[in-house]
Amino acid sequence: MNTRAVNSEMLLEVLDLRKHFPVARRLLGGAGSRKMVRAVDGVSFSLRRGETLALVGESGCGKSTLGRCILRLLEPTQGEIRFRGEDITHAPAGRLRELRRRIQIIFQDPYASLNPRMTIGQILREPLDIYNEGPSAQRSRMVTDLLSRVGLAPRYSHTYPHQLSGGQRQRVGIAAALALEPELIVADEPVSALDLSVQAQILNLLARLQQEYGLSFLLISHDLGVVRHFSDRVAVMYLGRIVEMAPTEELFVNPRHPYTQALLASIPQPDPRLRADPLPLAGEPPSPLDPPAGCHFHPRCPHAMPRCREHSPPHYDVAAGHYASCFLLDQTPAAAAAGGIPG
Ligand code: SF4
Repeated sequence: MNTRAVNSEMLLEVLDLRKHFPVARRLLGGAGSRKMVRAVDGVSFSLRRGETLALVGESGCGKSTLGRCILRLLEPTQGEIRFRGEDITHAPAGRLRELRRRIQIIFQDPYASLNPRMTIGQILREPLDIYNEGPSAQRSRMVTDLLSRVGLAPRYSHTYPHQLSGGQRQRVGIAAALALEPELIVADEPVSALDLSVQAQILNLLARLQQEYGLSFLLISHDLGVVRHFSDRVAVMYLGRIVEMAPTEELFVNPRHPYTQALLASIPQPDPRLRADPLPLAGEPPSPLDPPAGCHFHPRCPHAMPRCREHSPPHYDVAAGHYASCFLLDQTPAAAAAGGIPG
C-alpha cells in the first residue's frame, strides 16, 4: 500500500471526457449510418500533485485511450482537460509543445520506444537539445545525472538499447521521461513486460522518484497487485466509463460494483486450493461499437435487474471518496418499485 502524504494542490482535472472513433462504412458492410466506437464515454476525475491514480479494467475498456487523450496524443471528442487550472483540451501546437515538458509518458515496451540506432546518451540528450534545456556544454553532465537518478552507471550512455536488459531499458525509458522535469507522468503498463523480480525494482524506483520530485502518476495497469502496491486511488473502467472509484485500500477491502468484485476475485492466490477463476464473469465484454443499453455491464452481471437493461446507473456515494455506478446501491424507497433490490 502507498502511504505517502499527497499534496492538496489539484494538478489535473478531467471533466466528462469523451473520445469516439468513427468506423469506416466499408468495415460495416457499406450500408447504414456511420457508427462510432465510444472508447471513452463521459469520464471525470481529478489528480492531486504527488498522487498516483490507477486506471484498471479489461483490455479494450478505454484506459489507454484516456491516457493518450490526456497526453494530447489524441484529440478528445468532447469534454475538458484542465492542467494546473488551465484548459488544455484543444491547446494549439505551440502550447502543446510546452505542455509536453510537463506531461510525459512511460511506455509498456521501452524497446519499441527507444531508437535502436542511437546510443542511450544520444537518446537522453535529444529532448534536452530539442527543448534547449540548460547550457549546451552541460548537457552531457545532465545525461549522466539522469542515468544516476535511475540507478545506471555513466558507462551506459555509450551503449545501444539492444545491449541492455529489459529492466535496464525501462530505467532508460524512465530517465527519458524525467529529462524535462515533468509534473505528471502517464505510466502505461510500465512493468508488465518485465520479470517479477525486475518489476519490484522498477516500482520501487518509481516510488522513490515520486517521493523525491513530487511527481503525479496516472498509472494504467491490468495488474491489480501492482495497482495495490503503487497507487493512492483506483478508478475501475468498463466500456469507456468509470464504474467505481475509491482510495486504494478501500476499493480492495470494500468493492461495491459487481464488475470490481469480479476483477478482484480474479487476482491469483498463492495457495493453489484458493486459486480464483481468471475472470469469474459470463462472456466477453460487449463491443464499444454497440454497447448494451442501460448499465453496460448488465449482460454479464449476476445481479442484473429489469431497470439495469433500460437505465444507466448514476454514481452512488459509498464512503468518503468512494463511489460506484450500480443500482444495487440505490437506497431510495423508489428503488424497490423501479426494479427491486435483491434482499
Ligand atoms: Fe449489475 Fe444492475 Fe449494478 Fe449494472 S446496475 S452492475 S447490471 S446490478
